Amino acid sequence: MLKVVVSFLFLVTLFYSKAQVAMDTIETKGGRMILYSNRTWQYVEDQKFNGILNPRLHELVSKDSSLRFVQRWDNNVCFSTDKSNDMNKLKDTLWLCVVDESDDEFVMPVPGMLTSRYGPRKGRNHNGVDLDLNTGDTVRACWSGKVRYSKFNNGGFGNLVVIRHHNGLESFYAHLSKLMVAPNQSVKAGEVIGLGGNTGRSFGSHLHFEIRFYDAALNPEEVIDFSERKCRDHNLLVHRYLFKPGAKPTNLDEEEIEEPEVELKPIESQHKYYRVRSGDTLTEIANKNRTTVSKICQLNGIRVTTSLQLGRSLRVK
Ligand SMILES: [Zn+2]
Repeated sequence: MLKVVVSFLFLVTLFYSKAQVAMDTIETKGGRMILYSNRTWQYVEDQKFNGILNPRLHELVSKDSSLRFVQRWDNNVCFSTDKSNDMNKLKDTLWLCVVDESDDEFVMPVPGMLTSRYGPRKGRNHNGVDLDLNTGDTVRACWSGKVRYSKFNNGGFGNLVVIRHHNGLESFYAHLSKLMVAPNQSVKAGEVIGLGGNTGRSFGSHLHFEIRFYDAALNPEEVIDFSERKCRDHNLLVHRYLFKPGAKPTNLDEEEIEEPEVELKPIESQHKYYRVRSGDTLTEIANKNRTTVSKICQLNGIRVTTSLQLGRSLRVK
């Protein structure tokens, strides 16, 4: 009898320490939130969220018996290294709508110059591109989506945000000095997700930016033209050669690409940037730099009515 009571008490304790017992719900800006007894919380809509933001694509790559790709919704692992998503299995080309299936257009994560490209670097692969910034500069979501990961990463990324997008891709923003979003939070394109920095394996402030398709990194320049500050095309053709570390963007001239020797050497020196000071207006900035307000708006993806944050770097040429 005593044995039964002890095991019952043990089970009860186990239940209350492990289980999330809902205590209350509150209305928040992000939707209705459930508060649990173990001091954690969750949005009501996330209770049934399976991580799939592009059902059409997911149906295609998970149901195909030769692919069987998986896309977990894991808030603690930035990318999975298991062999399920082997891009060599892709025998056909997938047609991905980069912009059309998102709520919004593409927005540059930071206005700074491209300082290092994707590709082989010191015997490893540089899985993304580096963009210039100063510590404290705002970093923005490049498309709308849902934050899957937002925490310090010991693998070298430092403070890292990963966003899953409606187009089937994920974007990575590394070395941040401050995280300003939480896992499972929905974000719009252009929304501030953190501040740039130099955390993790980084030498000098910059944004390490990656684009991944089902955990596999691809060259961000395949998708984004960083000098034009927009997507190369509304569509992205996904095939196995896209994921080869040595692969070069299909739309670039051979001469344009050189392996970076010095990580922070600006590539696009013909561009000119201006850092916003106290009291600046768009008209003044345009006059100072002998350009027009509409040209600045176009280069930076902003509107005439956008309020200018102090210290923000604007491209003027
Ligand atoms: Zn990098």
